[in-house]
Amino acid sequence: MNYSQAHDKVAGQPDHEVVVIGAGFGGIGALYQLREAGFDTLLLEAGVGVGGTWHWNTYPGARSDTEAWYYAFSFAPETLTEYRWRERFPGQAEVNGYISFVADRLRLTPDIRLGTRVTSLVYDEIENSWTICTDSGRPITTRFVVTAVGGLSDPHLPDIPGIDSFRGDLVHSARWPMKDLELGGKRVGVVGTGASGVQLVESLAGQVGELFVFQRTPNYVLDRNNYVISDEQWEEIKRSYPQTWEKVQQHYFGFPTQLTNRTADAVGDEERQRIFEEQWAVGGFSFYLNTFDDIAFSEWANDQAADFIRRKIRSRVDDPVTAELLCPKNHPFAAKRPPIGQGYYETFNLPNVHLVDVSANPIGEITENGIRVADQEFELDVIVFATGFDALTGALTAIDVVGRDGLRLADVFGDSVRTHTGLATAGFPNLLYIYGPQTPFANLPPTLEKTAGWIARALVHMRENDLDYIEAEPPAEMAWKRELEEAVTSTILYKRPTKDTAWMMGSNIPGKPVEVQVYFGGFDKYLKKTTEIELTGYPGFGMKRVAP
Ligand code: FAD
Ligand code: NAP
Repeated sequence: MNYSQAHDKVAGQPDHEVVVIGAGFGGIGALYQLREAGFDTLLLEAGVGVGGTWHWNTYPGARSDTEAWYYAFSFAPETLTEYRWRERFPGQAEVNGYISFVADRLRLTPDIRLGTRVTSLVYDEIENSWTICTDSGRPITTRFVVTAVGGLSDPHLPDIPGIDSFRGDLVHSARWPMKDLELGGKRVGVVGTGASGVQLVESLAGQVGELFVFQRTPNYVLDRNNYVISDEQWEEIKRSYPQTWEKVQQHYFGFPTQLTNRTADAVGDEERQRIFEEQWAVGGFSFYLNTFDDIAFSEWANDQAADFIRRKIRSRVDDPVTAELLCPKNHPFAAKRPPIGQGYYETFNLPNVHLVDVSANPIGEITENGIRVADQEFELDVIVFATGFDALTGALTAIDVVGRDGLRLADVFGDSVRTHTGLATAGFPNLLYIYGPQTPFANLPPTLEKTAGWIARALVHMRENDLDYIEAEPPAEMAWKRELEEAVTSTILYKRPTKDTAWMMGSNIPGKPVEVQVYFGGFDKYLKKTTEIELTGYPGFGMKRVAP
């Protein structure tokens, strides 16, 4: 008997108190914390396994850009120490193995229904409950719905003429075929050079016959400097966990590091280069987080960082024309999320790797045989679209969510996204989001875990106070939108053309409102804000009792 079955269903009550949608970090974190709080919770997941991002993104080279030991949950001590991380930046299988391990170890699996895609959510005002339709089985009713459908889970294929006519294999990076593609000796095209494209390119270069990289915007790719975690380091990681999580909660991006208390102009040229060089060698996001605190706020500081990376690119790429094409020139460093690579730039020195610049001449057509750019056709056997996601709202609005008075979430978000602190939207009572739009841009597992914890405690508060209804209030949504805008405009990152092509601004998807989709005010500040909401009686969340 599982946990849900152990609860007697009361006649006239919904099937469950809470239904969570999605079995990535967000959903697993929510299921655990809701269950610990005593709620009868069912989790529905479209995929055939848990893991979310790490279940779906099985493309060659997929790996975390956050160090393993804090790309993890902080709850349940056994989950921190019993899963032995192997690599500093773990590959897809290792992260996915971790999430499966947590689900099994905490005995969550009996309450997870896999292979079940939610197609609609309809709020019933009389019953104050949600009816959930899925692609399998009968409708399910629940008092509360918690969506954890992922902010980067709805793959985006650009609308290029002829995309259906290609006779070879055409795949999106986030939907890599279960049965691996045969790539040996093949002519492969990769479209897109974001974090996914970069990982694919460096991994495919040595496997395929010819690799054509279709680049529209070059990125600032940082070095990974990955390594295998030694037994001594692992012991130290385990010992330091209390301090690690303390630091994570106090950091802008949810990393266990601190501000340097240094600006780029406070040191001389030589010292500045030394610091850049030192943190570049550390690898990962250290170059961004541990050099100078004003990189996102001062154009001059940002230019110094960008120049440093451009010099690295020129020193690594043999052909000067290719090197120049790989150098970002039109957007500040970190205005797009910087990819992390290991030997990415050097792959362009290989004779079988070809950079195709599609910045001036866009991809005109997908033909039966390949990709046409201007009057040149590139003949290909496989095309990989690493073209990103309909981020933050895509997976939510793919569900037909119908709230109070027949209001549709897709219509609301299609006009302009509004939420109260990224947690809920007016018109949609008892529907709460984890990693929906307007939540912090930060290391995600801590962000998701804390959001899930906030939701679980809010529901406990309601239970203890005999309340059964929570709905965001419009003035609170407007105030949050103002905070989002103030946070983004306090940086220099979105003052130059990038605004038009970054998923954080919604502008990578034609027709989507161009507005800031994430909170750039910092994970630490977000935690303080949501804690204050919790401690002051949930202002702006309109909690009440509607049942007689
Ligand atoms: P997801 O992991 O996306 O899970 C959402 C789940 O919801 C999916 O399993 C999906 O199938 C399910 N779902 C969606 N719609 C429905 C529906 N209608 N019905 C049923 N189920 C549904 N972030 C970092 O901080 N550091 C990193 O290093 C990092 N690496 C990444 C690497 C890749 C390749 C990608 C794409 C993203 C990466 N991210 C990283 C972001 C990553 O998405 C988050 O870190 C995190 O895994 C998100 O967890 P989640 O639970 O919110 O969503
Ligand atoms: P992305 O950052 O949105 O990049 C999409 C790429 O496709 C861009 O280079 C874009 O070019 C290009 N593109 C889109 N349409 C195109 C077209 N019609 N023609 C040519 N190029 C086109 O997507 P992503 O790389 O999948 O990454 C999304 C996010 O997921 C990342 O920012 C990160 O947060 C997360 N992620 C993380 C990791 C990791 O941590 N290990 C790995 C992968 C993804 P433009 O820039 O010109 O638009």
